[in-house]
Amino acid sequence: MSNSPRYYLHGDEAEDSPETYYCKKCDVFFSKDHFEKPCGGETHFKIYHRHLDNVAASKKHVTIFRPAQAKNISHIF
Ligand SMILES: [Zn+2]
Repeated sequence: MSNSPRYYLHGDEAEDSPETYYCKKCDVFFSKDHFEKPCGGETHFKIYHRHLDNVAASKKHVTIFRPAQAKNISHIF
């Protein structure tokens, strides 16, 4: 399980780059500012929840690894 690549959810903090967070929509790690305003006309709350739904739907097909204690800034969305 831990050999699988680290899976990043929308808003997860990068393990090798503190204070940067993954934007699923942009597929880029950004500082916190990026998450304080909508991205491409969508709220991060919406992007985050769509992403969660996609992950739940695909779990049967792919092995993903995400630490249970992964840091995420979804509390600010
Ligand atoms: Zn973005």
